[in-house]
Amino acid sequence: MDNLYDPAVIKSLLNRHGFTFSKRLGQNFLINPSVCPKIAELGNARAGFGIIEIGPGIGVLTNELCKRAEKVIAIELDQRLLPILSETLSEYHNLKIINADILDVDLKELIAEEFSGLSVAICANLPYYITSPVIMKLLESRLPVVSITTMVQREAADRLCAPLGSRESGAVTVAVDFYSEAERLFNVGRGSFMPPPNVDSSVIRLMIREKTPNVPNEELFFRLVRGIFTQRRKTVVNGLSGSMGVEKQLASEIISASGISLTARPEELKMPELIRLCEEYCRRCVK
Ligand code: SAM
Repeated sequence: MDNLYDPAVIKSLLNRHGFTFSKRLGQNFLINPSVCPKIAELGNARAGFGIIEIGPGIGVLTNELCKRAEKVIAIELDQRLLPILSETLSEYHNLKIINADILDVDLKELIAEEFSGLSVAICANLPYYITSPVIMKLLESRLPVVSITTMVQREAADRLCAPLGSRESGAVTVAVDFYSEAERLFNVGRGSFMPPPNVDSSVIRLMIREKTPNVPNEELFFRLVRGIFTQRRKTVVNGLSGSMGVEKQLASEIISASGISLTARPEELKMPELIRLCEEYCRRCVK
């Protein structure tokens, strides 16, 4: 079904199915016809690719993905949307819809079972209430995927795509940069959605790194990063002693040995400094 961007068509479709929007599930459906083709094209929906879509809604983006990719698996939590999707996407035989919470799906297993012989990419207009947990799950589970292309709130895009060492960077920026190269592709105004959300959005793309930085212990590296960033406006010395329980003098020694200024704040640190900090912390504090 190609006219799914037309608000009158959407309203009539939803009325026929007795569907009302759930704010709780972040249901803001795209009605701007230029956005989904761009997400699909920039998100690697093409021959030789299998695509995982998170939250298909009534299927506007799914439609563009199915036209271009070899195979599409769309994961939708809201059961009420399933009969609607069967209607709007009935012409596609390269599509499978799974009724589940994305946070509960074993995506590694799904990729192995469904996408044998294909490269894989993830595309979504994510429900905003779970942006960070979903992105962290996708990155931390080290899925064999080429890219994650998704709509997020403009403010979340500022944080996720910030260069390390800049004021907007936070613990989540470090995680994104560790696993991927993040880029803001384009901005999308609130009027592009039905119903319109209270904020503007951006589409971002995370190109997954083939090789992640070398750290002595990944779990500890992220614990340390979260620890120092819990007090992002304080110095790294204070973060290390406050959140990680390192005695102040030892914290100063670790920081100096890492080549970091004693007055530096976490947001000023780039990946090589964070890695050195982890190495020096491990050397002195991990038995
Ligand atoms: N892709 C559609 C579009 O662009 O118009 C809908 C996007 S809407 C922002 C988010 C979609 O994610 C909704 O269909 C919602 O029901 C679904 N959703 C919400 N929470 C989910 C979850 N935990 N797992 C899977 N889908 C979810």
